[in-house]
Amino acid sequence: MQAWVRAAKEQSDPAKQITGLLLPFTGLRVDEFCHIHGPTWFSWIDADTTETNDGEPPKLKVPSRGTCHKDGTTTPCDNCEDEGEFTTKFDDGRDIPITQTWNNFNRGGPNDFVTQDLGLRELCKSYFAVTRDDIGNKMIRGDGLTENTINKWCKDIAVDAQIGLERGLTEDARFDEQVPDVFPHDMRGTFIMQLIRNNMQRTKLTKYTGHEHVSSLEPYEERVAEETHAREFLDHI
Ligand SMILES: [Zn+2]
Repeated sequence: MQAWVRAAKEQSDPAKQITGLLLPFTGLRVDEFCHIHGPTWFSWIDADTTETNDGEPPKLKVPSRGTCHKDGTTTPCDNCEDEGEFTTKFDDGRDIPITQTWNNFNRGGPNDFVTQDLGLRELCKSYFAVTRDDIGNKMIRGDGLTENTINKWCKDIAVDAQIGLERGLTEDARFDEQVPDVFPHDMRGTFIMQLIRNNMQRTKLTKYTGHEHVSSLEPYEERVAEETHAREFLDHI
């Protein structure tokens, strides 16, 4: 995760940068991510106030349903055409606070982490048109991303992050050489595992992931448990 965050922050294309940071820190499903719409999905309203109008941390507000703004129109895109509008998988709209820092556990010890700045709030505010002055894009890249583009960008960032050793490499027709076997949905797993590492209660965690049942978290809990064992081992040998 440490290498991913560094590589995402270093992207020269701001659209790719914000994609690389928002995916692991909001845990959105890919289809939801394609539909982030600056003016309506963020809790910033007034450009002149400090952070938000209600004194709360700024949030990404994923609506359970709403107008599809993709492709620069309000006509439903291919993903939304059955319902006639954007809908989430389980009618699970949710508000996800935009974090400004993250706890980097990639340190070796069981409780050993450093809190690092992400700059994500400023990035969101300047990138999306979340202010009166309309200083950014209404959607990522202006009119939204396809799942294919998000997938390609994730692999671009994974190449820069050099995480091929960990994830293994795969063939991809869009690249000249093998690339890390990373998908956007993996970032949803990263988001969940990070909250588990930070000891968030599983019943509270589903409020931010949109899972129907806490039992869906078990594979992630098992993976974090494996990490913990490795760290504790190193502490005791
Ligand atoms: Zn749509």
